[in-house]
Amino acid sequence: MNFQAPEGTHDITPEQVVLWNRLEKAAREMFGRFGYEEVRTPIFEYTALFHKSSGETTDIVEKEMFTFGDPEDKKGTYSLRPELTPGTIRALIEGQLFAKKNFWKVWYLGPAFRKERPQKGRYRQFTQIGVEAMGSSDPLVDAETMVLFAEILKAVGVTAWELRINSIGCKECRPTYREALKAYIQPLLGTLDENCQRRFERNVFRILDCKVDAEKLKDAPKAMDHLCPQCKAHMAVVEKALQSCGVPYRVDPRIVRGLDYYTRTVYEFSSSALGSQNALAGGGRYDTLVGSMGGPDVGSVGFAAGVERILLAMGGEAPPPAPDFYAVAAGDVARDEVFKTVMALRRAGLSGDMDFEGRSVKAQMRSANKAAARYALFIGPEEALKGAVKVKDMKDGAEQTVSLDEAVQKLQGGKTS
Ligand SMILES: [Zn+2]
Ligand SMILES: [Zn+2]
Repeated sequence: MNFQAPEGTHDITPEQVVLWNRLEKAAREMFGRFGYEEVRTPIFEYTALFHKSSGETTDIVEKEMFTFGDPEDKKGTYSLRPELTPGTIRALIEGQLFAKKNFWKVWYLGPAFRKERPQKGRYRQFTQIGVEAMGSSDPLVDAETMVLFAEILKAVGVTAWELRINSIGCKECRPTYREALKAYIQPLLGTLDENCQRRFERNVFRILDCKVDAEKLKDAPKAMDHLCPQCKAHMAVVEKALQSCGVPYRVDPRIVRGLDYYTRTVYEFSSSALGSQNALAGGGRYDTLVGSMGGPDVGSVGFAAGVERILLAMGGEAPPPAPDFYAVAAGDVARDEVFKTVMALRRAGLSGDMDFEGRSVKAQMRSANKAAARYALFIGPEEALKGAVKVKDMKDGAEQTVSLDEAVQKLQGGKTS
C-alpha cells in the first residue's frame, strides 16, 4: 500500500525549500534591521487560551481548531495553535518580560493548524510568519509593521501586491458603528447566506468580510465615517507615514479581519498573482488584547503572513544554488583520491559533490553540467599517481592540471558567493 500525507497537509520538496530558505533568510534579516527579536512557542496550548484571545465567535475558534486531551482534566483540553499571536503574548506575559521593558517587538515563524476544507493555498497545516509590537499606541508602529512586510516582499522579489487598510475604531466609537451597520443590514438579512445570518448577532462586522454577499453590501455604512476624533487622528498619522515612505495603499472599508481582538488599524496584503486565496498577510492593532490576557494594559499591533502563500507568489520553486565544483573520477584508484580531494575542498569552504553510483566518466561529466558546477575536477590514474587534479573552468572550458593545494586556491578565487 502507498501512504499519503494527511488531507490538507503538504510536503516541502527540495525544489521548494530553496525558495523557503530564501524567504526565511530575507525575513530574518529584515526583522533584525527593524529591531524585532525572535520568539518560539509550543505548537499547542490550552484550548482556553484561544477562546480568550482569538474570540469565542470567530470561525477559527468555533469550528477550525484541532482539539485533543481529556475534557475532564482540570486545566482543560489542548488545541493545536490556529495562529501564533495568542501563544506569543502568553509567553511574554508568563515570562514576565514586560517587567524588563515596556515595549517589545518580536517575530515568529512556525506551523499553525486549522481544520478547514483544503484548497489551493489553504492548508490544515500551514506556516505563519509574523510580528507583534507590544507596548505602544503610537500609530507610527502600525505603519512600521506594514513597511516591514512590504520590504520583505521586495527582498524576495514579490512585486504584484496590494495593501488595503481600514480603521474599525475603538471601544468608544465602535458601538455606534455596530448599531449603524446592524440597522443597515437588518432589512437585508433574509437575503444573506447562512453564515452571515449567524454572524449578525454575534459578530456583525464579519458580514462585511463575506465574499458571497459582497455585492448586496457595497453601500453599507463605513467604519471610517463613524470614528471618534482620536481614532480619526490615529488613522491620519498611519496614512501619512505610509505616504512618507512611499508604500502604496488603498483605504478599503471592507477590511475587518476575522478576529475579535482588533481595534483601530486593520490591514491586508494581497497578491494578484494568486487565485481566490489571495491574502498574503493580515494585521492590525489590538489595544485591549494583552491586558485582557493578564498582561499590562498596553497598545499593540502586529501581522501574520502565510509562508505558503508568499512562496506561491514567489513562483513556487527555484533551482538549488550552483555548487563550486563537481569531482569526476576515472577508475577505482582515482575514486579514493577524488574522495580525499572533495573532503579537502569542502573543509576549505567550497561546495560540491562526487559520484557515489559507480558511473562512467561521461555520466559523471553530465552530472557536473547538470549541477551547473563552476568547476569540474578530474582525477584519472595519471593524476592520482602524481597527487594532481585537472581543473576545468566550466565557463570558458579552460583546463589546468594542478596540485590539490593549488586547486583549493583556484576554486576559492573563483567563488562567486
Ligand atoms: Zn475611536
Ligand atoms: Zn454572507
